[in-house]
Amino acid sequence: MDVIVAADRADLVKARDALGEGSLALVPTMGALHEGHRSLIRLAHEHADHVAVSIFVNPLQFGPNDDFSRYPRTFDADLEVCAEENVRVVFAPSADEMYLPDRQIGVSSGEMGTIAEGAFRPGHFDGVLTVVLKLLNLVQPDVAIFGQKDAQQLALIRRMAADLNLPVSIVGAPTVREPDGLALSSRNRYLSAPERATALSLSKALRAGAAEATPSAILRAARAVLDDAARLDPPLALDYVELVDPKTFKPVGEAHEGEAVLAVAAKVGTTRLIDNVIVPISG
Ligand code: AMP
Repeated sequence: MDVIVAADRADLVKARDALGEGSLALVPTMGALHEGHRSLIRLAHEHADHVAVSIFVNPLQFGPNDDFSRYPRTFDADLEVCAEENVRVVFAPSADEMYLPDRQIGVSSGEMGTIAEGAFRPGHFDGVLTVVLKLLNLVQPDVAIFGQKDAQQLALIRRMAADLNLPVSIVGAPTVREPDGLALSSRNRYLSAPERATALSLSKALRAGAAEATPSAILRAARAVLDDAARLDPPLALDYVELVDPKTFKPVGEAHEGEAVLAVAAKVGTTRLIDNVIVPISG
């Protein structure tokens, strides 16, 4: 069946009518679709009768020095991916369609949006939550799928759904990696071959950390790999490596039991990459 491309709310209403009966899952993306996005779409099919994908590079979640203008835009290839994965509706609005010129109101990501990744990207999570809420209001899915790759984003979206009583189920999807461990990301295409080799240190650090049992040992092992990577050519420039509570993203103490998220962010050349892994801590 053909993919219906919707650019605005009126198109979405028509698309929804064309789908007829059945539940709907939404996979929000910024396009430049890769195997990670495909896995989200496949998971979406397990949770609903129909799948919609949104493609929108959200200006609100980029800071002034971020890569908004050079973010990859590959709409035709993305449509092909959606067709191959049996997506019924692609919602691809313009920025003008999404944001009124005199807009006033947005979602605040609270304290949780200012720590960890939020400390390095002021306003980022407010922008993410605002666009996600708008996409949910526009598409009105029963289920929405988000990747664990953006662990703090997923935790904040769950928090928003709970705090604002959103009538949607939020489903998390595991991170898809290259065979050598590099987490798939639309930004990987910026990396030169030597930069990509350095970027492998992120997943290597996470694996080293995850092999340890206590919070201090986990962080020590991950930091050792990242310290080595800082001496590579080209070097890895670490923003942070933190072991945090999966729900609150506050650092866990030595007495923590249960799951923790080992999260890392670093720049290689001009490309900023993030990755994380869930580590069970038995105490
Ligand atoms: P993006 O287009 O990068 O904003 O990502 C759209 C969705 O895909 C988000 O929910 C991401 O967490 C998810 N995603 C991105 N990369 C991966 C990956 N390697 N594995 C699984 N999900 C991913």
